[in-house]
Amino acid sequence: MPRPIHACIHTPALQHNLARARAAAADAKVWAVVKANAYGHGIEHVFEGLRGADGFALLDLSEAQRVRQLGWRGPILLLEGVFEPRDLELCSRLSLWHTIHCDEQIDMLAAHKTQVAHRVFLKMNTGMNRLGFTPQRFRSAWARLNALPQVDEISFMTHFSDADGARGIAHQVAAFNAAAQDLPGERSLCNSAATLRQRPGTPAVYADWVRAGIALYGSAPDHPEHTAAHWGLQPTMTLATRLIGTQQLQAGDTVGYGSCFTADGPTLVGIAACGYADGYPRHAGTGAPVLVDGVRTRLLGRVSMDMLAVDLNPVLAAGLQPGWGSEVTLWGRSSTGAVLPIDDVAHAAGTVGYELMCALAPRVPVAVA
Ligand code: PLP
Repeated sequence: MPRPIHACIHTPALQHNLARARAAAADAKVWAVVKANAYGHGIEHVFEGLRGADGFALLDLSEAQRVRQLGWRGPILLLEGVFEPRDLELCSRLSLWHTIHCDEQIDMLAAHKTQVAHRVFLKMNTGMNRLGFTPQRFRSAWARLNALPQVDEISFMTHFSDADGARGIAHQVAAFNAAAQDLPGERSLCNSAATLRQRPGTPAVYADWVRAGIALYGSAPDHPEHTAAHWGLQPTMTLATRLIGTQQLQAGDTVGYGSCFTADGPTLVGIAACGYADGYPRHAGTGAPVLVDGVRTRLLGRVSMDMLAVDLNPVLAAGLQPGWGSEVTLWGRSSTGAVLPIDDVAHAAGTVGYELMCALAPRVPVAVA
């Protein structure tokens, strides 16, 4: 028998979240961001749920190839563009749109011999200070690209640093609009947070395309200010396992490595077959939420490589009889229908839903439902 751990990817939830992003983005087209193997879900596993998007945005050529192999004939955008000249050949062959964020990428394109004209997104750095041309250098970069016979269509993008926070996006939108003003081409500014958080009266920034990632995967981009439920998003990934042991503790007994949890009274402890080697965050300590047979309870002590301990007293108090084989939901939806948002677990571990999804370990078998 394999270990009882598994992940499940929920196709209807992906479809639902895509519809939410689309509704929030007004008339804009939606790039479904599927980089990092679809935020850890597996590109093949999310394809059915997200094929209603207008395009797929990702990083690696190998991921682009996989999307084409799945039969996708629509737009695919390389969010970081090409890394070396021979990548351009594959861009042509796979008919990819690619980002241009630096002079070196324009140089490569200028030297590239091709029959196929390229569609590119020219990226402006409006304050993120990661990738892109500054507003001052943007127009000259555009002029260089525009003069290349290798380039067919130029669109424009920028990326927000604080769409989920207090600083907001207005200063970046203003910088982008000022520098890209009157340049012909489509525009893309918003990530999930910017897409969801626009309020009536704020300037319309949806433009032609939004680039939605985390919202599609049912995690709130601005947690803990807002929850996924607040935004009407549904969990797309469940990580579940079963109890493979129980221990009855008395006051003073401890659990696990480092004896980090000490019982203050009789405590029934369940041992779940999930640990940090499965992608569960080791930094989630006592108190991190978990569902046992759909009842919300808490983690106890330190997470081990292959196991973690949970408090079964609240499950007993709910009138259930937890024991060997009881269902444990680490995040997502339990078979009772109860939901444990991945954001709650991430928060308890001092991280974000993005990281937990991406960290799902290859050894965890994945099913699509
Ligand atoms: N656009 C770019 C350039 C990105 O790097 C990302 C992800 O980090 C996204 C869009 C999607 O962001 P989110 O997952 O917050 O929607």
